[in-house]
Amino acid sequence: MFDATKCDFCGECLERCLYLDFDREGGADAFETLYRRGEGDWVKKCVTCFACNEFCAKGARPFDLILAHLQRRGDFVPPKIVSLLLERFTPRDAFQAPPIDGPVLSLCTIEGNLPRKIGGALFEGMTVVKGRHFFCNVIFPHLGDERPMREGLGPLVERYASLGRDEIVFLHDDCYALMAGIAPQYGVELPFRPVHIFEHLRDRLGELRDRIRPLDMAVAYQRPCASRLTPWKEPFLDEIFRLLGVTRVKRTYDGENALCCGQDLKGLARRGDKFPAYQEENVRDAAAAGAEAMVFLCPMCLDAIGGRCQEAGLKTYMITDLCRLALGEG
Ligand code: SF4
Ligand code: SF4
Repeated sequence: MFDATKCDFCGECLERCLYLDFDREGGADAFETLYRRGEGDWVKKCVTCFACNEFCAKGARPFDLILAHLQRRGDFVPPKIVSLLLERFTPRDAFQAPPIDGPVLSLCTIEGNLPRKIGGALFEGMTVVKGRHFFCNVIFPHLGDERPMREGLGPLVERYASLGRDEIVFLHDDCYALMAGIAPQYGVELPFRPVHIFEHLRDRLGELRDRIRPLDMAVAYQRPCASRLTPWKEPFLDEIFRLLGVTRVKRTYDGENALCCGQDLKGLARRGDKFPAYQEENVRDAAAAGAEAMVFLCPMCLDAIGGRCQEAGLKTYMITDLCRLALGEG
């Protein structure tokens, strides 16, 4: 939730936005007008990337205010699209906790989007949970409506709790963002510790260190929007790259300056008119920085710009597949 007590209306969040054209003064004015008068047509041009929450060093969470206004306006995407996606992800049957043996890995509903099935030594002995009963609903803030995510969180936490584990490993960055970043904002306590896939991979690669054949590769990284909500796990990625013998190239659109992949949710939701140009610039930046490959955490990002990467001569890897390659499972 936006915290007005932490905001001094400095304008930095909107000045740093990569998709809106504000200078510091204009951003300060626009944001204060949005807060005090609820006015600002510019919110329609927001691409819902969550980045301004990360940009605000005071922790005021400006995107949460923008999202509240998008929701109030109700014109960010046609309501029928929200209904259609709600229908698509609503479970068709009653939930029954699956039998659990070993640590739990959640795949949410992204298994079908992964270029390669999850398996191998990195996930040995884990029980996978997946499907609509474990859907995180983090897509809905991208559609300008957080209600399905907020309303779905309590039941979702209960389903995970029913698995009886102290920790749940989340492959989907959005799921981890929901549990580790958003649940505390909603005052929802978790009876388990959410573990990001980066942390899991770092730990397993450490245990399998003797099997690693260094890849000696220069890569760029496509950071998902949801990572803006849980930036503290980023150092795990650098540890993974170090263990794999991979160099992360220094480029313009990395870290806090990362560009959204521009996934348009298959034409269902507008994510900004200029996205093809941003995608091209993103890939060009990676190639110009000397990357041989683009590494992805989110399969939806891979879906959005994987083709452009390949056209630019970059190989594409999900981070899990890059790790498996180094273990000789490629
Ligand atoms: S939300 Fe943060 S960055 Fe934005 S105007 Fe307020 S204090 Fe400045
Ligand atoms: S969510 Fe992204 S696009 Fe929207 S105002 Fe914040 S930084 Fe800009």
